[in-house]
Amino acid sequence: MSTTYFDIHSHLNDPRFDPDMDEVLLRMREAEVATIAVGTDKEMSERAIALAEKHPDVWATIGQHPTDTHDEIFDGTWYREKVKQEKVVAIGECGLDYYWPTNPDSRKDFGDVDIEKRRQHELFAEQIALAEETGLPLMIHGRPTPKTMDAYEDILEMLRGRGVKGNVHFFVGDTTIAKQFLDLGFTMSFTGVLTFTHDYDETVRYIPLDMMHAETDAPYVAPVPHRGKRNEPGFVIEVIKAIAQIRGEDEEKVREVLAGNAHQLFGLK
Ligand SMILES: [Zn+2]
Repeated sequence: MSTTYFDIHSHLNDPRFDPDMDEVLLRMREAEVATIAVGTDKEMSERAIALAEKHPDVWATIGQHPTDTHDEIFDGTWYREKVKQEKVVAIGECGLDYYWPTNPDSRKDFGDVDIEKRRQHELFAEQIALAEETGLPLMIHGRPTPKTMDAYEDILEMLRGRGVKGNVHFFVGDTTIAKQFLDLGFTMSFTGVLTFTHDYDETVRYIPLDMMHAETDAPYVAPVPHRGKRNEPGFVIEVIKAIAQIRGEDEEKVREVLAGNAHQLFGLK
């Protein structure tokens, strides 16, 4: 098994991969891709660890997503025990999501927006504390209210002055927000969205190559030419190609630097 590419954020632990996990892993290995399976609550964190323990080219993050699991109370004791597992490489995905609680089309009822924001702030604060304690990086999920940068501004506020590092996954902020994350030493990662919109080209060119990552966020947002299908870690190659193209840089150079970035932040080998 040789690893050439890193998909630093996938939900390979999602039950949607259960029926054909062996084939997905096979395609991933043929493409020389390794991945980090991301926890979104206790159950998904447990599934990420189980997968990582079984496969040398899968790592895990553990944590609680701001909105995916609305009813779960953060179990600090459980996370403090699980974080000791060798293949746990980050805390998250955690952060602030203001998109769904303010969206009238949301399938869940988030109730009063201010109360919901307070709940998310407390949940995120616990995970910042855990990252600080363990020295592990944060895998951050930030999603602002449309046409604003509100969730990112609040995340930045909560991170300033804290002894933490990490990555902002599925980055959709502008260059002003990117600069502030860079000032804190945070990296940002991009998805297959780059293959079908030019909305993020300016940020992709703005962020130094050694401060970014490629991810799939599989099973979501499959890149072109797989668009509309279930996404999988092997498709990260399309994201890396898109980054090279947007930046006008050599694909092999981009691949090499991004692989180095994954080693650097998450300690992947
Ligand atoms: Zn995700």
